[in-house]
Amino acid sequence: MIDMHVHLRDFEESHKETIAHGLSVASKIGYSALFEMPNTVPPLTSRREVERRIAFADQVLFEEPMPVFHGLYCGLTADANQIAEMVQCVRELFPRAVGLKLFAGPSTGALGVTEADQQEAVYRELVSQEYAGVLMVHCEDISLFRDDPGLTHGQRRPLESELASVRRQLALVKRTGFSGTLHICHVSSAEVLGIIEEARSELPCRVSAGVTPHHLLLNEEMVNGEGGYLYTVNPPLRSEEVRRGLFNAVLAGRADVLESDHAPHELSDKRAGASGLPGIPGMLCAVAYLVKHGMDGSLLTRMVFEHPLDILQMDPEMLLRQAREADQRLTSVYRITDMFDMITTGGWHSLCEKYRELARSYPWDPYQKLAEEYLL
Ligand SMILES: [Zn+2]
Repeated sequence: MIDMHVHLRDFEESHKETIAHGLSVASKIGYSALFEMPNTVPPLTSRREVERRIAFADQVLFEEPMPVFHGLYCGLTADANQIAEMVQCVRELFPRAVGLKLFAGPSTGALGVTEADQQEAVYRELVSQEYAGVLMVHCEDISLFRDDPGLTHGQRRPLESELASVRRQLALVKRTGFSGTLHICHVSSAEVLGIIEEARSELPCRVSAGVTPHHLLLNEEMVNGEGGYLYTVNPPLRSEEVRRGLFNAVLAGRADVLESDHAPHELSDKRAGASGLPGIPGMLCAVAYLVKHGMDGSLLTRMVFEHPLDILQMDPEMLLRQAREADQRLTSVYRITDMFDMITTGGWHSLCEKYRELARSYPWDPYQKLAEEYLL
């Protein structure tokens, strides 16, 4: 099982989580690999910081070998020289530096490249660098955010802003002739999947879409209820109708990847408005819930294993070889089948027990109610 979208914090945010902790939770679920986002503190936007992060992760895995491959994305700014440096990083450090991340909408950290002309400049620079790898994009159009403090988080960052940003990325890859893989992260609505499907045949590049456990399992009612601040996330949780539409679209095979967007915070940060949910344990909930509603093993395997490898341009052998070189005990990359067997042979109870055990290692559990109601 591969998670192509996690935030492992550490460094100056080690109070929220450490690489060692994130990897150890992932290894208990049966992950083979995870790939972390660059909006760390400090951010992974220079060769120096990227190399320091990789060396640090190596040290963690050297001290406590775990069967999980660690990789990361280099963060992009609007500066052409910085973009060229990041492209070079991916070329030389692949697959540890597996691709690039563009925050086309603002989120945690200060990595937003939010203006249309800046975004176009990023794509043009990537084309001039002949970049052919993956570009992960956080899509929300800041010009469609609403500023009224009386509004909920979801109303301030409405679905229209996500739709507009996705449309813009698709238009920009077409206009600039970008020939890598465009991966739209954490799609929150089936409407977004529809826009991607419609555009696909006319694009010069491959486009893929990721969905998260929280957009599949939770809705905005959680945000509006007691302790709603815990459910603040970007893009926000949507209405129950939108959530159900996305869930059904995923069951129908219309999304490419299930990605956790694991983004832990301390409770005090959440109270102060921080966005993000602990998500690695939630992958168990999402998988269990999808299978319970009819997802078959082959589609699930594509979403959490085959498509991520394909999008990141990695073959399983490369993963094993890299792990061996880093002295990690990665012996198999097919461990998703164990989990699927566990579910289909009636192992609901043990799966949920495992979920609850792992969820306890974070300050709060976003799926507690759901796990009690539907899974046990
Ligand atoms: Zn994220």
